[in-house]
Amino acid sequence: MGDERSSPVEFVDPVDGARWRVDLDFLASRWRCRWGDGCLGILDRPAPELEQGCCSVGAELLDEDEARMVEALGLALDPARFQFHAEAADGVIRRAAGGGDGPATTRVVDGACIFLNRPGFAGGAGCALHLAAVDEGESPIDWKPSVCWQLPLKVVDGDGGVRELRRWRREDWGSGGATMAWCCTEEPGEGAGVTAFDGVAPAAETLADELRALVGPEVAVAIRTRVAEGGF
Ligand code: SF4
Repeated sequence: MGDERSSPVEFVDPVDGARWRVDLDFLASRWRCRWGDGCLGILDRPAPELEQGCCSVGAELLDEDEARMVEALGLALDPARFQFHAEAADGVIRRAAGGGDGPATTRVVDGACIFLNRPGFAGGAGCALHLAAVDEGESPIDWKPSVCWQLPLKVVDGDGGVRELRRWRREDWGSGGATMAWCCTEEPGEGAGVTAFDGVAPAAETLADELRALVGPEVAVAIRTRVAEGGF
């Protein structure tokens, strides 16, 4: 299943009554993250050789609490696991100029997020926060900026207090989205010789931890059950 969409399906949390409108098509699809496995990235040209995935831009941080958490983690990371440890002495995040309202983001160094260890780094390629969380036996969900562990999923407030859980879309990338060569959640991508819709299990299963963190345990179970039953 690629980008074929039917209407979202609504779920109600039996504990708190929260209403969720859910993109079951995406969660039933075989989407998988292709970081380090042919991901074409988010630049205006396919760039699998860079292995930057969607880390070519700084991650937008949720709020000041998250900004402080990321700053603290940046100071605490083992240099052996953090390629840009020296650069981090100048800060790992950037706040809006002049104290403006824009979101803080992780800093971009050498063309990608400061936390992205590049291919060939002895301490391991990939997100230094993710690697450190795994080292500590903890969930990367607790260490990474929200947007980083939530992607390819996105929660938006819909009409009437309903929250929408849907796939990440090209326009979610902001002004750069229009010129991206590939949007892994929207395009099957066969024309470019790579697709993210070729996993071995439904996204609702491979993203089970993220799903639970986003919608809570009750709705997560209901979604996974519905995906397993099919027919929506
Ligand atoms: S989420 Fe998509 S763009 Fe980001 S690393 Fe995975 S496959 Fe690549």
